Amino acid sequence: MELERHAYDVVVVGAGGAGLRAAIAAHEDGARTAVVCKSLLGKAHTVMAEGGIAAAMGNAYPEDDWRVHFRDTMRGGKMLNHWRMAQLHAQEAPDRVRELEDWGALFDRTPDGLISQRDFGGHRYARLAHVGDRTGLELIRTLQQRTVALGVDVFMECTVTRVLTDDEGVTGAFGYWRESGRFVAWEAPSVVLATGGIGKAYKVTSNSWEYTGDGHSLALQAGAGLVNMEFVQFHPTGMVWPPSVRGILVTESVRGDGGVLRNSAGNRFMFDYIPDYFRKETAETEDEADRWYEDKKNNRRPPELLPRDEVARAINSEVKAGRGTVHGGVFLDIASRRPAEYVRKRLPSMYHQFKELADVDITAEAMEVGPTCHYVMGGVEVDPDTAAARVPGLFAAGEVAGGMHGSNRLGGNSLSDLLVFGRRAGTAAAEHARKRAGLVALVEEELADAARAALAPFEREGGENPYTVQHDLQQTMHDLVGIIRTAPEVEQALVRIAALRERVAALSVEGHRQYNPGWHLALDLPHLLVVSECIARAALEREESRGGHTRDDFPAPDPEWGRTNLVCARTADGGVGVARQPLPQMPPELAEVFEEAP
Ligand code: FAD
Repeated sequence: MELERHAYDVVVVGAGGAGLRAAIAAHEDGARTAVVCKSLLGKAHTVMAEGGIAAAMGNAYPEDDWRVHFRDTMRGGKMLNHWRMAQLHAQEAPDRVRELEDWGALFDRTPDGLISQRDFGGHRYARLAHVGDRTGLELIRTLQQRTVALGVDVFMECTVTRVLTDDEGVTGAFGYWRESGRFVAWEAPSVVLATGGIGKAYKVTSNSWEYTGDGHSLALQAGAGLVNMEFVQFHPTGMVWPPSVRGILVTESVRGDGGVLRNSAGNRFMFDYIPDYFRKETAETEDEADRWYEDKKNNRRPPELLPRDEVARAINSEVKAGRGTVHGGVFLDIASRRPAEYVRKRLPSMYHQFKELADVDITAEAMEVGPTCHYVMGGVEVDPDTAAARVPGLFAAGEVAGGMHGSNRLGGNSLSDLLVFGRRAGTAAAEHARKRAGLVALVEEELADAARAALAPFEREGGENPYTVQHDLQQTMHDLVGIIRTAPEVEQALVRIAALRERVAALSVEGHRQYNPGWHLALDLPHLLVVSECIARAALEREESRGGHTRDDFPAPDPEWGRTNLVCARTADGGVGVARQPLPQMPPELAEVFEEAP
C-alpha cells in the first residue's frame, strides 16, 4: 500500500483556536508537533466567532473576578458542568487573553485604554474581550502567525479518519489528503483532538461543512467516553430568511448592545418567559431593563440576555403560538433602539451580513431571527487539569471536549475554553510523549484496515449517494431530536438512525480519489451517525428538562438528574451504550460562591 509516513511526539487534529493553542504549548514544551486540518489553515470554525472571549479581567467592572465568572458559568450550565473545568477556565481566561495581546492581537479598547469588555447573556458583568464582531478572526490570525513562526508543521486539507491505538494507548493517526486522496499516517504517542462540533447533524445550523463530529466519533472508536451528549445548544438568533441563508448566526452582541426581541404583535415577549431560577437577577419591566445598559449596578439585566436555552425556547413557543413572522421567526430590533452610526460601528459584520444576504438594513428595520443549531456541550470526557481522555495518549480540547459547559454554554465561554484547555492539552500531550518516547510504532495491519475502510465506498456499486443520506439524517435530527423532545419521537429517531446506518454501509461513490467531495462526505457520514445516535440515546435516557435538553414529556428539572451525568461509550458489539455517572463533588469553598447574593 502506498502510504506517506511521518513521526511526531504530538499530533494535533484541528487548527481552530483549541488546536493551535495546543500546538503552541506542545511545541514550546519541546515536543515535535504537527497540526492536521481538514480545510485551509485559518479557515477553522473559530474564525467565524463574532462576539468575544469571556474573561473576568475587571476592565469594565472592577468587582468582576474569577469567582463571579465561575458562578455564572455553572449556573448557565445548570450545575452539570465539571466544577474543576469551570474553575480553571474562570481563573486562567484573563491570562490567556493578555497573552494573545502580547502575541499581537488588537482588541477594542475602553476610553482609558484597557481591553474593552462587552455584555453577553448569562454573564453578570460585561466581560467579553472583543474586536468589533470579528473576534474569532483576530484570535485565529494571532495564533496562526505564532504557530507558523514557531515552525510547527501543518498538514492542511488533510482529513484524519482514525486514531491508531495498541494495548498501551495511542500510537498515531491515519488520514488522507483531500486533494489527491492519498493516504498518510503519523506515528505519535500523543494525539490531541481539537476537531470542533457536530452541527452538520442538523438541518438548520450556524456551523460550516467541517462540523461533522469527527473527533467525537474518533474518540469513541478509540475507547474514550462522551459526556453530556444530550445537550445541544440552539442559538436563539439565526437568520430565517431567505431560505438559502437560514441558520446563519446573528450574534448575541446585537442583544448585548441593546437589541430586543418582539413578536408579530410588537410585544417584547421575553418578559413572559423569565424562569424562577433567574428571576432575582432579571429586570421585571422594560424601563428597568433599558436602564441596565447605562447603570448595571442598580438595575437588573434585560430578559433578552437570559442564557441561550431560555431565549431559544421562548422564541420557539412564540412561533408555535402563532405570534411569529410569516417566515417562522420573530423580530430582533436594534434599529429603533440605537443610532445607525452606533450599530454600524459595533456590529459591522451583522450590518453587511443582512444587507448583502437578505437586503435588510438593520439600522432602519428589524431582523427576522429564529433558533439554529450552534454548539454541542457534549464531548470527550477528559481530566480537567490535563485534558486527557481515558485512552492513554489521547487528549481533547475545545468544542470536541465535554464537561466544561454542563447543560448549556454561555456566549463567549467557548473562545476562552479553547485557549485555557488548548494550552493545558498541549502541555500534557508533550509530557505524555516524553514518557512514551521510543515505545510506540505503527502496526501495518491496522494501517491496512484503515485504508480498506476508507476505500470501501468505491468498492460498492449501485448504492445510494451520500448527499441523500446526509439530508435524511439532518431532517431526522431536526424533526425528532431538536429543541423540544419527547420519548416517542426520540425512539423513532433511533429507529431511523439504525436504518440510515445500513444505508451508509451500502452507499457507493463514483469517480476516483482525486478531490472527490462525495467520497469525503461518505467518510464523514459514519461520524455524523454515531454522534447523532449518542445525542438521541442520551436524550431518551434523561427524563427531565435542563439547559440544552428540553423534554415535553418531562418539562421540569429533576433534582436527581441534577446530580447525574450521562456518558456514552462503545459497547462490545460495536453499538453505543449510555451509562449514568454521579457528578464530581464540588469542594465546600467553591460551593459557598452559590450562597452569595446574585
Ligand atoms: P474549530 O475552530 O472548528 O476547529 C476545528 C478544526 O478541526 C478545523 O481546523 C477542522 O478543519 C479540523 N477538523 C475537523 N475534523 C477533522 C478531521 N477529521 N481531520 C482533520 N481535521 C479536522 N464562541 C465564543 O466564545 N464567542 C463567540 O463570539 C462565538 N461566536 C460564534 C459565531 C459563530 C458563527 C459560530 C459558528 C460559533 C461561535 N462561537 C463563539 C463558538 C466557537 O466559535 C466555537 O465553539 C469554537 O471556535 C470551536 O473551536 P475549536 O478549536 O474547538 O474548533
